[in-house]
Amino acid sequence: MGEFDLIRRYFQRPVRRAVLGVGDDCALLAPAAGMQLAISSDMLVQGRHFFADVNPRLLGHKALAVNLSDLAASGARPLAFTLALSLPQADEAWISDFSQGLLALADAHECELIGGDTTGGPLNICITVFGEVPAGQALLRSGARAGDEIWVSGQLGDARLALEALLGKITLPPELLAQTRQRLEAPTPRVALGLALRGLASSALDVSDGLLGDLGHILELSGVGATVDSRLTTPLIAASVNPLWATSQFGLDLQQQCTLAGGDDYELCFTAPAQRHAEVLAAGLASGTAVSCIGRIDAKPGLRLLGADGQAMQPLWQSFDHFGVN
Ligand code: ADP
Ligand code: MG
Repeated sequence: MGEFDLIRRYFQRPVRRAVLGVGDDCALLAPAAGMQLAISSDMLVQGRHFFADVNPRLLGHKALAVNLSDLAASGARPLAFTLALSLPQADEAWISDFSQGLLALADAHECELIGGDTTGGPLNICITVFGEVPAGQALLRSGARAGDEIWVSGQLGDARLALEALLGKITLPPELLAQTRQRLEAPTPRVALGLALRGLASSALDVSDGLLGDLGHILELSGVGATVDSRLTTPLIAASVNPLWATSQFGLDLQQQCTLAGGDDYELCFTAPAQRHAEVLAAGLASGTAVSCIGRIDAKPGLRLLGADGQAMQPLWQSFDHFGVN
C-alpha cells in the first residue's frame, strides 16, 4: 500500500469544523470571533516514550491524549490536530489499530485530524493540536499568587509505578499492574476540568515530568514559592482513590516518590485563590474529575515539602537517584 492510499484509508475523514482538511497543501481553520488559538506539539519516540511492542491502539490514544492534556492545562477547547508520522514499514494491521485508538479519542473530544505528514523511518509520532479559548482567558503558568491554594487532579504516581514494573525493577500484583498500566498507556486528558477552571484557576499546567518539577515551572514563571504537604498527596490520595495502593505491600517511600516525582501522569496541577476553595471543588464535581488541595503558594521563593510528621523534608529529587528500590 502506497503512502497516499495509506493516508486516504486511515487518516482522511470528512471535514467537520475545519474549512479544509486532509488532501491539500495546507489545512484551513477559521477561529471564531473573540477566540484565540491555543497550539501545542508533543512528540512520542519509540524507546524513549513507549516500548516497541506497545499496543498500537493504546499508542494512538496516548499520542493524542498527551497533546489534549496541554490544551486542558490552558483551559482550551480542542478543535483540530495534525499528525506527523514516521513509520518503519506500512504494517496495515498496526496502522489500522493505531488510527482507531487515535481517532476514537479525537471523536470523543470533537477534535478533527486536518493534516500531517507520513514518512518512512524509525517509529516516531508528532502531533500538533489546535484549541480555542476566549481571548485573554487562557490558563497560564505565570498567574500564581501568594496565598493561593495548590491543587492536583486525579491521582498521581500510577504511570511511574507501572513503568517501574514493566522495566522489571519492581513486581506488582497482576491486578495492580493492570490498573496502573492502563494509566501509563492510556492516560485521560483532563479537558473538561481545564474548561471548568477558566476564570477560576490563577495558574495551571499538566503534570508530565513529575509533580514537584512541574510545579517548579509555575513557581518560576509566577515569581513565587510554595509549601506542599506530602501527606495530602500520599497516601491520602492513594488510599481514598485507589484502594489497591493502600493494601499493597509496597513501601510508602516508593508510593511517595511515584506521586511526587513519577511523571507521565497527565493530571492538572493548578492554583486558585483560597477563598474560591468551594468553587474549585464544584468545578471538579461538574467535570467528573477528583481534585485535591495539596499545599499553598508562598511569597518566599523555593519549594518546601512537609513530610509525614509535618516537618520539612528533603526535596525528593535529591534522593531520586535511589529510586530503583526493590
Ligand atoms: P505535501 O507533499 O504537500 O507535504 P503530503 O503529500 O505529505 O503533502 O500529504 C498530502 C496530504 O495528506 C496533506 O494534506 C497532508 O496534510 C495529509 N497527510 C499526510 N500525512 C498525514 C497523516 N499522517 N495524517 C493526516 N494527514 C496526513
Ligand atoms: Mg508532506
